[in-house]
Amino acid sequence: MKIGKYSLGIGDRFGHQGEAQLRAVIRAAELGVGIDPVWNKSNREHTYIHSQPQDTRTEADAAVKSLSFKGRYFVDADHINISNVQGFILASDFFTLDVAGKIGTESNPEDIQAFIGSCTKYSGTLNIPGITNALEVPEKLIFETGQKFLAAISEAGRIYKYIADQKGSGNFVTEVSMDEVESPQTPVELFFILKMIADQGIPAQTIAPKFTGRFNKGVNYAGDVKQFSREFEEDVLVIDYAIQEFGLPDNLKLSVHSGSDKFSIYPEISRIIKKYDKGIHVKTAGTTWLEEVIGLALAGGEALDLVKQFYIEALSRQQELCAPYADVIDIKQDELPSSEEVLKWDSEKFANTLRHIPGHVDYNPNFRQLIHVGYKIAAESGAKYLGLLIQHKEIIGSCVEENLFDRHLKRLFDL
Ligand SMILES: [Zn+2]
Repeated sequence: MKIGKYSLGIGDRFGHQGEAQLRAVIRAAELGVGIDPVWNKSNREHTYIHSQPQDTRTEADAAVKSLSFKGRYFVDADHINISNVQGFILASDFFTLDVAGKIGTESNPEDIQAFIGSCTKYSGTLNIPGITNALEVPEKLIFETGQKFLAAISEAGRIYKYIADQKGSGNFVTEVSMDEVESPQTPVELFFILKMIADQGIPAQTIAPKFTGRFNKGVNYAGDVKQFSREFEEDVLVIDYAIQEFGLPDNLKLSVHSGSDKFSIYPEISRIIKKYDKGIHVKTAGTTWLEEVIGLALAGGEALDLVKQFYIEALSRQQELCAPYADVIDIKQDELPSSEEVLKWDSEKFANTLRHIPGHVDYNPNFRQLIHVGYKIAAESGAKYLGLLIQHKEIIGSCVEENLFDRHLKRLFDL
């Protein structure tokens, strides 16, 4: 099972926007850019929402059927590990093996020595086609890379085999992710990580490193765009070389876990993949939940009242809501509007504060990040929230579609 050159992770926390999301993908196809939609949902999201992996499959299948979509599509067990993968085996055909938590775990010295021994060819000066300056690879760097990543990638191997034993090796797409950590992996580290992935026999089709800069939830990229661009380009070239050197799948591509909206780096990603004619996978996950909140705000009345209450509650439960996302969230306390203030807002003011239009006078990234991690509160409100999603399906659907198409796909694929 092979994923196409371009693919988009369209997580949908509450499982109601499958059709709206797919409409954006279909619009891109009509303009000549084929994109495989991938409905991704992590175990963490399922736990908060009390949904099951099968619900994501049902949503995806229903959307595809209803819009008569003829392309490939996938259901991603996002950020899974060995302790929770079992629940995803039947429903998913894309697995994101999250081994970030194992980075830095000690490996036994023989394994590290064996790894170093298998890398002698690459020590010294490493020339990667396309990268102007040769990479300096002292043996110490190979040793340190082994120490840092070998345990993590052997864990990925263990998860991969666990899935393959049940599904059969050719029947799913594998991603290896290490993005939810503080320090980025350099292109040369990525090269050796890919060697480890190949050594483990993992036919990875997508890889999600931690890129330089901060990928905070729901807001723009915070970091040096030039440096991102340079490293992203080197990563693309490293992958190309690793495919040939290590026999990894020829469609292996980078996966950018955007934490929803990384508009300032989208044009760079777009330029570089075009330059080298490469594929890309971008996960936009939580952006859809935010569009639901925007849609409800625009609907007004009790829908607006409910999303105001979500914010007020999120404000008082900040610590609890932010804790699981500590590495990917950055809220400035003194820039959060007070409950009293928000209660006075009309639909437009609420929507404009939340909607991700950098430069808009009302846009507030702190407000947006807090709502982003506040989906647990909507889940707790249960039937009330879901009822309003159905009641205001049209206005919400148009927000979801517009967001994916206008703000993401247009920028990523130059539409
Ligand atoms: Zn991620």
